[in-house]
Amino acid sequence: MKNKTAIKTSQRRYRQTRIVATLGPTSSTPEIISNLYHTGGVDVFRLNFSHGTHDGHAQNIKYIRELEDKNGRPIGVFADLQGPKIRVGTFKNGFIALEKGMIIRFDLDDKAGNEKRVCLPHPEVIEALEKDNHLLIDDGKVKMRVVKKGKDFIEAECIAGTKISDKKGVNLPDIILPTSPLTPKDLKDLEAAVRMGVDWIALSFVQKPEDVAEARRVINKRTKLIVKLEKPSALDHLEELIAMSDAVMLARGDLGVEIPAEQVPRVQKHVVRMARNAGKPVIIATQMLESMVTSPTPTRAEASDVATAIYDGADSVMLSAETASGDYPVEAAEMMRKIASNVEKDPLYRTMMEVEHPDHEETSADAITSASSRVVDMIDAAAIVSYTTTGSTALRAARERPAVPIMCLTEDLSVARRMSLSYGVHAIYTKDVDNFGDMVKKATYLAKEYNLAEQGQRLVITAGVPFGTPGSTNILRIAWVS
Ligand code: PGA
Ligand code: MN
Repeated sequence: MKNKTAIKTSQRRYRQTRIVATLGPTSSTPEIISNLYHTGGVDVFRLNFSHGTHDGHAQNIKYIRELEDKNGRPIGVFADLQGPKIRVGTFKNGFIALEKGMIIRFDLDDKAGNEKRVCLPHPEVIEALEKDNHLLIDDGKVKMRVVKKGKDFIEAECIAGTKISDKKGVNLPDIILPTSPLTPKDLKDLEAAVRMGVDWIALSFVQKPEDVAEARRVINKRTKLIVKLEKPSALDHLEELIAMSDAVMLARGDLGVEIPAEQVPRVQKHVVRMARNAGKPVIIATQMLESMVTSPTPTRAEASDVATAIYDGADSVMLSAETASGDYPVEAAEMMRKIASNVEKDPLYRTMMEVEHPDHEETSADAITSASSRVVDMIDAAAIVSYTTTGSTALRAARERPAVPIMCLTEDLSVARRMSLSYGVHAIYTKDVDNFGDMVKKATYLAKEYNLAEQGQRLVITAGVPFGTPGSTNILRIAWVS
């Protein structure tokens, strides 16, 4: 992507909440990716390394970067690693129908399965399972109980559920597995994803702070890290895990199987609040508009769930199967966009964002960013402008959940792309300025170009002097757009 300082674009998004869409079989074409972006309002794409091939993911990144180049708006991309997720193998027909009482053998034979047997390619799991342990398959939709244990296989009886299809996940609430957060497959996927130039790696099934430290060592500053919260043990270390992350995802699919579903809403509220306080972007994920996998409209409860995540103060809401393998990928994203826009128009929502105000740190950067959102309210400014080298000032501004857009100007393309996950941030990849006059000129010019402000409106600009020095945010300037 070239430096864009003179682009005519209508890419302003009249929405502060961000949308993440997972790509998959039904959305891996330039046309659908473009429709997801334009019609669906998708800001960030997720590549799910539990599925697909490296070539397929690389191809999708290429489409996304072409789209980005055409529109001049940075787009974030992250690779979601499978992690130590237990999955069944494949079936001859792609799935099997289940009935209560049916007994299925889970073994180590990687041949396609049928109604009698299927592969469970995890010897350590078969080893660890005992009679009467439970297997929860496909986000808990299928429940089975071990009735027999043999050498290299177990047999389990279906207690509930109607269908298992290829590679569905298996949760084992009754046993603890001593697993590293990065499997051999993850290590390969991680290297491939870094080579593809992803903006973050999402780490699955994090259990403890050491898991994040281990991933950081492997990544070695080559990209950033999203910590997925989906294990009960991660909830015991929330504060530390959030502090160690670059962003967090509340992965409700596995979480809601590993802990009782009725606890998920409470956890969601706490996680959003803690991440916001820490100034880390937070994504609410999974089953948000699940019925849109097969239906052009969501249930009222799903619409309400998306809205609730936004009322909670999430930065981003995410689509999984809806856009990856559903029949209505673009419609699902569009529905999410409309729900977000509606919530954001609600005066009650603004009140809620202001009531939950985060505590401030005693740093000049925090003082300036917190003052800037107050100044915006007092003078009814059109936007906040943040000149930032590492993105940290824009993240502090996003944590205020301001009602106006945060125009983030940065010289670092990967910073610009990563800002696409953060509340209200409109990142522009552009050269730094080196004096006050240029700072104001550039901010007002770009605000107009990107439809973030009109002539006669005011901007609240924050920057660090000397210009271009990371961590030096120390000035606040009000400027008229002429
Ligand atoms: P997954 O993560 O789709 O990679 O399992 C999301 C979740 O568990 O909710
Ligand atoms: Mn998961």
